[in-house]
Amino acid sequence: EALDEGLKKTKESFFSKITKAIAGKDKVDEEVLDQVEEALVGADVGIDTTVTIIKRIEERVAKDKYLGTSELNRILQEEIMGILTEAPSSEFETFDVPAGKKPYVILVVGVNGVGKTTTIGKLAHNYKKAGKNVLLGAADTFRAAAVDQLTIWSDRVGVPIVKKEMGSDPGSVAFDAVASGIARESDVVIIDTAGRLHNKAYLMDELGKIRRVISKKMPDAPHEVLLVLDGSTGQNALEQAKQFTAATDVTALAITKLDGTAKGGVVLAIANQFKIPVKYIGVGEKMEDLQIFNKAEFVDSLFS
Ligand code: GDP
Repeated sequence: EALDEGLKKTKESFFSKITKAIAGKDKVDEEVLDQVEEALVGADVGIDTTVTIIKRIEERVAKDKYLGTSELNRILQEEIMGILTEAPSSEFETFDVPAGKKPYVILVVGVNGVGKTTTIGKLAHNYKKAGKNVLLGAADTFRAAAVDQLTIWSDRVGVPIVKKEMGSDPGSVAFDAVASGIARESDVVIIDTAGRLHNKAYLMDELGKIRRVISKKMPDAPHEVLLVLDGSTGQNALEQAKQFTAATDVTALAITKLDGTAKGGVVLAIANQFKIPVKYIGVGEKMEDLQIFNKAEFVDSLFS
């Protein structure tokens, strides 16, 4: 399965450390816990989330003094699932859109290079596959390459794109995309934005403008503000999430590039730290490599 394959590196590096930690031990002691802690931090689970998990394991060990190391995996799995269960969930388990929001407008934000364009292409593909009419809006008018890349995706997936020349006002592109989506009776309009993270004021201003212009055309839009984060950057992704959520109302998260990294634990840190659901994960470069984040499947893949 793509998810198992995608999380392979995280899993291997994480569990080789756990295996080493419990080698020759017959019960979970301080030393074992220290090494589990190290393994979690090494997988980029983040200090806060790691401390929470370790504390919970400690409580369980204290209750049962003779807790064997063979149970450690199961307990760890339960506690990791517990952390995810407490985190908010996306209301959708399929590529569906809510009734009465037509078109469903998704504004996609994130720093350049995190996989924003690719994620938009993958989303378009999946929504189309689910029978939705999709339209793309190229509102990253600062980079010619961004518009080109999005155009390539629109051709590849076979969905229309609204774009203007480089340097145009991003708000006007977003406005036209929503207008065109309404005229064409699109189900989903996905709008790309520039990923220039100069500073918070700049970001607030830029994204604020785009949102205001969109809502002039469709008052309750954008319906979703999707922040794309590069999971392979580990704690940097957390930092970006902090900056973007402070600058604008982010409603969903996509974490990309979980394949090819041992830092997949960052999903836990992000889920635990932000009150925003992780909606998608990216596990490869192809159209098919975007998955709706499923907590149980994620944990199963890590421990299977
Ligand atoms: P943008 O600048 O944020 O729009 O980033 P792009 O969408 O252009 O992606 C940057 C690079 O990351 C490209 O080479 C993508 O193919 C790659 N990429 C995006 N998502 C994933 C993913 O989930 N896994 C892998 N391995 N590569 C990805």
